[in-house]
Amino acid sequence: MSEWVRRSAGALEQERDRLNRLDADIGDGDHGANMARGFTAVVARLDGAAADSSSAALRTVGMTLLSTVGGAAGPLYGSLFIALAGATRAREPDAAVWADALDAAVAAVQRRGKAEPGDKTMVDALIPARDALRAAVDDGKPLAEALAASADAAEEGARATIPLLARKGRASYLGERSIGHQDPGATSTALLLRALAGSWDE
Ligand code: ADP
Ligand code: MG
Ligand code: MG
Repeated sequence: MSEWVRRSAGALEQERDRLNRLDADIGDGDHGANMARGFTAVVARLDGAAADSSSAALRTVGMTLLSTVGGAAGPLYGSLFIALAGATRAREPDAAVWADALDAAVAAVQRRGKAEPGDKTMVDALIPARDALRAAVDDGKPLAEALAASADAAEEGARATIPLLARKGRASYLGERSIGHQDPGATSTALLLRALAGSWDE
């Protein structure tokens, strides 16, 4: 898990300005800063005390994001990682466990945020990622390949938010003017899932 977290923090730091710009187009311009701050805190916390299981590490990620990211994304990503922790309790994640865990994580995000597919949110990256992971695992693909397919689907889902009208979060205040811009939260979700795939692909 620490490899995923380290890669996520690096990617978010690198893409911070781009995420801020995407959020400036349809929100308040802080999504990159929020996420980079959160993952810097996560890295510091995990470096300070080695977690004794994947589940414990994921729970620390979720709790730290809840208390450091703020805005709309903090509670949503917090719920996502806490759900991953719940789904990996007492079993180190293999391909089937990851597929179940991403199911639980997407359900947790939707429970909290009430966003449906097509609302132009992180859910539009998460749902295709979840479905691609499940399909690859059912096909018997090795975990690295399944996670790469999941990240591909998340990136495609993030790009597919461009023509959508935002129906949740700050971007929804813009109405029609939200059309033509890529959703920042869907974009950060794709970054996190690409980092996850990379951490398994050694
Ligand atoms: P804020 O809008 O409070 O500044 P961020 O900029 O950090 O928070 O996060 C914005 C992102 O949060 C959006 O791009 C969108 O993907 C996501 N988001 C906002 N509201 C919801 C929701 N109800 N459900 C799912 N995702 C949401
Ligand atoms: Mg914002
Ligand atoms: Mg904000």
